[in-house]
Amino acid sequence: MRESEALRRSREDDLYDDESELYNKRAGRAMSRRTVSDPEIREARRRGDSGAEYREALGRNRPRRMDPDVQGPEYREAYPEDGYAAAGGPYAGRDGSSPGSGRNPYEEAPEEWQSEPPSGIHIRKGAAYTFVSYVFILMFVTLIGYLVYFNFHSDKVQNSPYNRRQDSQSTYVRRGDILDSKNNVIATTQVDENGNEIRVYPYSNMFAHAIGYSTNGKSGVESIMNYDLLTSHDNFLDRIVNEFRGVKNKGDTVVTTLDADLQQAAYNALGDHQGAVIVLDPQLGSVLAMVSKPDFDPNTIAADWEAIISDPAGSQLVNRATQGLYPPGSIYKIVTALSYMQRYGTTDGFSYNCGGELVIDDYVVHCYDGTAHGEENFGNAFANSCNCAFAAIGLGLGPAQLTKTSEELLFGKELPCELHYNKSRFNLTAESDQATIAQTAFGQAGTLVTPYHMALITSAIANRGMLMQPQLVGRVTSSDGTYVENRNSKEFGAIMTEAEAEALKALMCQVVNEGTAGELSGLPYSVAGKTGSAEYTMSDGQIGTHSWFAGFSNVEDPDIVVVVLAENGGPGSQTAVPVAHAVFDAYYNK
Ligand SMILES: [Zn+2]
Repeated sequence: MRESEALRRSREDDLYDDESELYNKRAGRAMSRRTVSDPEIREARRRGDSGAEYREALGRNRPRRMDPDVQGPEYREAYPEDGYAAAGGPYAGRDGSSPGSGRNPYEEAPEEWQSEPPSGIHIRKGAAYTFVSYVFILMFVTLIGYLVYFNFHSDKVQNSPYNRRQDSQSTYVRRGDILDSKNNVIATTQVDENGNEIRVYPYSNMFAHAIGYSTNGKSGVESIMNYDLLTSHDNFLDRIVNEFRGVKNKGDTVVTTLDADLQQAAYNALGDHQGAVIVLDPQLGSVLAMVSKPDFDPNTIAADWEAIISDPAGSQLVNRATQGLYPPGSIYKIVTALSYMQRYGTTDGFSYNCGGELVIDDYVVHCYDGTAHGEENFGNAFANSCNCAFAAIGLGLGPAQLTKTSEELLFGKELPCELHYNKSRFNLTAESDQATIAQTAFGQAGTLVTPYHMALITSAIANRGMLMQPQLVGRVTSSDGTYVENRNSKEFGAIMTEAEAEALKALMCQVVNEGTAGELSGLPYSVAGKTGSAEYTMSDGQIGTHSWFAGFSNVEDPDIVVVVLAENGGPGSQTAVPVAHAVFDAYYNK
């Protein structure tokens, strides 16, 4: 800016040194053009006023603010704030002249002002130069703004499914690979003999929802990392050479946190059940496995698309881990137990005598299979998953306390999640009746939760109350490995106190050691967890039961959180616990 101003001044100096008639004409025309839009001046012209009157009219507009020493007395009068009245003003002696000796185009070319401006565009040379300078500055500022914007917002812009640039970028860059954390290739792009690019998923259906697809729209990691996959950080010279040869550069490699062995184990363990399995590292937030069934083969998604979206069930594309909303059943007792601790500070001194059923108005609460659990302390009631005891606890706490705890655990709230997900639902209000409050306390009534959300809550319990930001991507590298961007784990925030987390952990150990998850006791590794058997009404009106497990292993220094939801899988101990068992085994047998 400063440079161009200096240039403009030196240019004007040249002009003002030129006292030829040509210069006067130019200067006069420029002045006429400048004021032609002023209605009073136009009126003066129309009346054929003399030059002096015309100048008076013109004088209503202060002369253009330029170098005072070339503007003369009119300028100094118009701009007293420049302090020019005193001799030796700021511009004195700049070109060897003293104040007042400057040449003034207003006084030197009066005849020109009385003539109509000539047709056509005549811009004084100095003005043209100024104009060009400003255009360049504007272009430069725009360019900087563009670069800054793309540096900070490019991921969002590039990853937006509405951005056509995404696909145009693939004209220059061959989509990069997606790897698991041990460098197993989960997605790659192959080129056939005709030069056609084919996206290949070596594990077929296994990673369908977590990794997603990149045709017919985008989903999963293919969607959230689209920008990186279509950006090449390969050697700069190689890229230039490739551009000249018309060869595509290879996009960056996305290294996920997923573990193909663990994913395989979870996928196999869920078997033919519809549902989801999630494995997280609670201390880092890494997503190690994410399975959802039913699934699809991303290798043939384009060919299968019509069949998939016209399927009346229509749910292969739904990621049940993050989008499937299910009644939590007894795994919600984790929340009710925390709420009790928050209210009373301890679970000591609690006792309940379970007769197998509890009548509340005209509603009857049953324990599973009508079992009467007898005299129980808090730990027994939790380990036995006693509905009657928790119904009584819920009625004692009331809707406000249960709502407060649920919201602190992010029910009905936004979750930290990179993929598409659904918020959990929790509908208890001050108007809720006694039966609804009682059912809510053991995970029935209107409460709905995703397996992913239960994995977050379980992670916080395993990690002393601190929820880590879950992440699917560990790092991004160039395809030749020269560039590396690490994605470090971050804290989301504490969603319970450390003392509360430790107390819940103890309750969950009791579930394994003497309760409904006994299958997970006596193993080479320790497990803490909670089972759930969540009743729901099927489309034919029959009552079905979803099978839940949420827990973690190596209790003192937790390694992995495993959450299993098997749709209509019966009691948690029957289906979900064996699935989790297989996943824990796979982790420790690797
Ligand atoms: Zn009971």
